[in-house]
Amino acid sequence: MKVLIKQTTAFVGASFVRRDNVDIAIEGGRITGIEPDINSAGSTVFDGRDFFVTPGFINSHFHPSQQLNRGLAIGVSHSEQMDLLHATDRIKDPDAKYVLSLIALLEGLKAGTTCFYSVGSEIESQVKAYTTLGLRAACTMIPKDIEACDKPAEIRATTWSTQDRLNTAEELHLRHHGDMVRIHFGVCNVRYASDNLIQGMVKLAERYDVGFHMHVAEGDEYVKEAIKRTGHRPVEHLHHLGVLSNRVALAHATKLAAEEIDLLARSGASVVHCPRANAYVAVGLCPVSALLNAGVNVALGSDAAVNNNSNEVRGEALVAYNNLSHRHESVDIVDYRSLFQMLTINGARAMGLSHDIGTIDAGKKADVVLWSKNDLPFIPGHNYLADLIFTDSCRAHTVFVDGKKVLENYASCLLDEGQLIARAREISAGYYQSFEREIRQHLRCAGRE
Ligand SMILES: [Zn+2]
Repeated sequence: MKVLIKQTTAFVGASFVRRDNVDIAIEGGRITGIEPDINSAGSTVFDGRDFFVTPGFINSHFHPSQQLNRGLAIGVSHSEQMDLLHATDRIKDPDAKYVLSLIALLEGLKAGTTCFYSVGSEIESQVKAYTTLGLRAACTMIPKDIEACDKPAEIRATTWSTQDRLNTAEELHLRHHGDMVRIHFGVCNVRYASDNLIQGMVKLAERYDVGFHMHVAEGDEYVKEAIKRTGHRPVEHLHHLGVLSNRVALAHATKLAAEEIDLLARSGASVVHCPRANAYVAVGLCPVSALLNAGVNVALGSDAAVNNNSNEVRGEALVAYNNLSHRHESVDIVDYRSLFQMLTINGARAMGLSHDIGTIDAGKKADVVLWSKNDLPFIPGHNYLADLIFTDSCRAHTVFVDGKKVLENYASCLLDEGQLIARAREISAGYYQSFEREIRQHLRCAGRE
């Protein structure tokens, strides 16, 4: 299918150079031209005059099925929140995860997200959700093989044998890995994943030439526990294991020593900054400025709705900016174009996909967002990129992923949103009842308001 977006404004290349009155030609899922007056013969034409077009945003760290716990962990510590996640794993069924994941993805898509680095224990429901909405993703399990014996059984994370997880991860890769939904490898963190599990997963990532993803240095407590288990700080330990490389993306990284920043820069590993989630559970502020100065690739992630109350990665850019300007009392730490890169091409690099996505360039996959110049946040529209970074309530009007229209006139083209919402509300009500009955007594957490 050929599509031609006519006479639009496009932000082209990794520097997002504005080009007005150009046509964008799409064929076979890729952008084939960005020029004025492209011949429209044989193409479905989209009148682009009232729109500006950007690359789709990339949410580089995302737990879709945590949508079920949204609003249940307000005002609790990171450790208490983890207890909630582990306890509720027992009452989530795959269908509930799938349906609520669709809600989370839809929220992200409507804010311009086209690609997700997606983590969670249930790969099948993730794959199904991305496929249903026509979105791009890399999914990975993030298992644990070290039991948290200090925790009561009711709130203890599920752990598996090392070999079982390695075998399962490889089977899932072989069964589900594809062009649109990829299956990468990962572990939870240095604290609860053994060295054999970490090294085994990285070997699998190398064998199948995909990425490796995990949490790292998410607060002082995490670092203390990692040192207790390994004798090293988390990134230092990954270096000792010989697993750091440019196929590795590490989420959070709020507590890094200067030597660890150096190790990340030398290895080419990416850091996924999740500022809203980090603030929500008070685990510190990622040293973004030092990472950028060292040359580390920094992307952005929304993490989970349970510790963010949002699935919109776009909003992470503004919070990242605010945090940096507050901390350094300077407006020059990171400019809006760098923030835009974190939302797009840096995310693509973190997933090993920068040859295909992250910018609008001829030859790249057509993952593009059309924003209406008539929407309130874009009037007067002097600087659309800055509007997207610094303004609330920007809604994507139309979205193409892999050259196919997945959102039009602010609504999904691929499912009935009304039916989905009705089903999700029904599931959520049943889930809350199970939560009250079986889980709540074991936790300090928020309840229904
Ligand atoms: Zn996470």
